[in-house]
Amino acid sequence: MQHSLVIIGGGYAGTTLVFQLARTPNLRITLIDASPVHLVQAKLHRYLAGDLPFEEVAYDLGRFCTKYGADFVQERVTHVDPLTKHVYTENETFSYDTLVVATGCTSFFPKQIENIHAHTIDVKLPSHLQEAKKRTEALFEDKEHEHTIAIIGGGLSGAEIALELAQKAKRFPHVHIALVEQKPTPLPGMDAHLTKAALKACETLRIKRYHGAFVTAVNDRILRLSDEREVPFSLALFVIGVSPTLPTFTPALPLTPHGLVETDAHYRVRGLESIFALGDIVCSYDANGNQNLPTAQVAKQQAKHVAKTLKALLAKRALPRPKPVINKGVLVDLGGKNAAGLSFGVPLWGKPAYLVKRLVCRLHTRIF
Ligand SMILES: Cc1cc2nc3c(=O)[nH]c(=O)nc-3n(C[C@H](O)[C@H](O)[C@H](O)COP(=O)(O)OP(=O)(O)OC[C@H]3O[C@@H](n4cnc5c(N)ncnc54)[C@H](O)[C@@H]3O)c2cc1C
Repeated sequence: MQHSLVIIGGGYAGTTLVFQLARTPNLRITLIDASPVHLVQAKLHRYLAGDLPFEEVAYDLGRFCTKYGADFVQERVTHVDPLTKHVYTENETFSYDTLVVATGCTSFFPKQIENIHAHTIDVKLPSHLQEAKKRTEALFEDKEHEHTIAIIGGGLSGAEIALELAQKAKRFPHVHIALVEQKPTPLPGMDAHLTKAALKACETLRIKRYHGAFVTAVNDRILRLSDEREVPFSLALFVIGVSPTLPTFTPALPLTPHGLVETDAHYRVRGLESIFALGDIVCSYDANGNQNLPTAQVAKQQAKHVAKTLKALLAKRALPRPKPVINKGVLVDLGGKNAAGLSFGVPLWGKPAYLVKRLVCRLHTRIF
């Protein structure tokens, strides 16, 4: 009898798992995603600023699943019943023997910011990303007026988007880029080597930075900051953080106070042996006991371990030894062919860092 594996979410974790389990005997894989495409989030700033076509950041999940012998269903999962082992979408019901939940995060738009509801473009959603691209293109084309694109949030996503747009704006002097980040530098909390490189790139590319205050309201194309400063803008993109997203589970899954799913060392949901959770929604730790940040490399390593675990379970072999996620480093694009990074603790700069980042992206996208 075939074992039915249902995977919810075709992001970094879900697609890596499909790839690792492709054509496993007696395993039928169904991947369900609300979106028809897998979004390569680590490249989306390069699509937004113009030099990458949409097809290079958004890969067709139907074609991907066909390639690896899996079924693809484009539906949003609304509800899961772990007791009867059923997954519900608006139009269909699926039964499973094993379920993997890999639904990732959605961008965070705090209601406390007045009028933010009119500026909730979530660059993590393919359709919103395309809309953001259309709007930025329109501003670059409108040479009759001065325009400011304001990026709110100077973390990895915000800094990369701001720097890539600023690189493009070198050719369009009527477009200015503003970056609002409450902490004193872009990439707050990251290694000093990276923050220093990001600061230098912001200065070279003439990004107007606003630090030490947060946005309290968005009115009439003006961002109002907590210290009374005002930032005029033509387009505002909020990239101030993400929060885990899950379908409704009845009974509910065990969650940490931050809404992350609690699992054992094999990523099986605590108390539910037939459900695994992966990626940004999971609370996991590195070898030193520090909580892993939600990154693509973490999601992929977890998926590889779950693939081994599932193969062992199907073959009735001993489970593989759990191993903590290894932090291989971080790479940040700084506009154009400039980047900075730390690879296994070794600092990288400029074009070499840029090339390593391209290689890392390619190692993921080659599976499509
Ligand atoms: C702009 C940006 C840049 C980044 N850059 C990097 C980087 O350089 N390096 C790095 O390591 N990490 C980076 N990250 C983080 C990385 O993208 C995430 O950690 C990674 O995507 C997590 O993978 P995941 O599989 O958990 O979730 P995701 O890749 O987010 O995938 C989740 C999937 O689940 C689907 N889904 C959600 N809910 C449902 C539902 N109810 N029903 C059906 N489908 C559903 C979604 O449509 C989505 O396809 C970046 C993130 C962003 C936003």
